[in-house]
Amino acid sequence: MITNPHPIPFNQPFLAGKEFEYMESAIRKEKKLSGNGHFTRLCQQFFEEKYGFGKCFLSTSCTDALEMAALLLDIQPGDEVIIPSYTFVSSANSFALRGAKIRFVDSKSDFPGMDESKVEALINERTKAIVAVHYGGVPCAMDILQNLSKKHGIPLIEDAAQAIDSFFEGKALGSFGDLAAFSFHETKNIHCGEGGMLVVNNPNLVKRAEVIWEKGTDRAALFRGEIDKYGWKDLGSSFLLSELQAAYLFAQLENLKIIQFRRKMIWEDYAAWFSGRQDQIQVLPIPYLKSLEDSIKDLGKVETQTQPGNHHVFYLLFETLEYRQECIRRLKEKGILAVFHYQSLHKSEYIQKHQPEEYFRDLPNSDRFTDCLLRLPLFYELPDLTK
Ligand SMILES: *Cc1c(COP(=O)(O)O)cnc(C)c1O
Repeated sequence: MITNPHPIPFNQPFLAGKEFEYMESAIRKEKKLSGNGHFTRLCQQFFEEKYGFGKCFLSTSCTDALEMAALLLDIQPGDEVIIPSYTFVSSANSFALRGAKIRFVDSKSDFPGMDESKVEALINERTKAIVAVHYGGVPCAMDILQNLSKKHGIPLIEDAAQAIDSFFEGKALGSFGDLAAFSFHETKNIHCGEGGMLVVNNPNLVKRAEVIWEKGTDRAALFRGEIDKYGWKDLGSSFLLSELQAAYLFAQLENLKIIQFRRKMIWEDYAAWFSGRQDQIQVLPIPYLKSLEDSIKDLGKVETQTQPGNHHVFYLLFETLEYRQECIRRLKEKGILAVFHYQSLHKSEYIQKHQPEEYFRDLPNSDRFTDCLLRLPLFYELPDLTK
């Protein structure tokens, strides 16, 4: 039973500024709503210039960007791809679609992100890619992964779905891998409803990426006036983001700084509150924070997230599944929606059916985060809703 008349959702999509203006301009001025137009180019340029990324391709989702990556690397049945178990289904499904076998890596003991020190043991002659997932925009140790990639000659892919505007040793996430995939799903820091982007940092892959992006054709070259007819050149699919969504996305990118700043303040408030620094609260109302605190009382020792990343998530870590579920129930009664996160992929129904030998792998850290992690509401307009 929800007693709070103004429930607090876990996430709420928001407008940052000129979304409608730019969408109207796509319709009335540019008069182009399919993909690869004015706003697509503006968004791609934004990333290429601001973060030093290789060639960027806006796509309909991060899932699609990862599927492009699997096509681009010619993943075949029998190939193996190394991926953390504690991640979203798409990180693995994109490669399973091409017949790859997934080799799962455990999380670190003190953080949900992948344990880089466990990757090398999984490499063999069938390994065709290593997928680094930056959980909560907290960077994987890219020096370790890049060295492994070089040493064994295996492409490195970053699933940077949550990692916009986040850095490892001063260099932007998304600029380390041969390929990187971003998400602009409404639950991410910057969004356009559904959307994504493939970054191609390896120059040898750019030409084919453009063909795969354009449904297996060289239509993009025709648009540039390089050829006078286009045709079917390679495998591909319908990966382009519509200009309407690119217009929405560009308005958000223009406000990246303020959006990130606001999320940072919310994140810091949570961190301050749960570590007893009540005097440092900036934007979240005290009654809201108090009702969170009430809900974890007598539920054992609760750890809080310490690595901020790009302030994509703020999580609590309980001692047991039962304590976490009880907390979810109590918060729901107060009208606050808090949610758990991934379910270990090595124990998923799909893997049990198709890679049964993987099912028996022992990945205790991934299982612990599956059972014990709880994410608190964190979105642009949260402070207004909690008032
Ligand atoms: C959100 C997310 C995805 C999927 O993104 P979509 O744009 O919804 O396809 C993939 N990987 C990770 C790690 C994610 O967080």
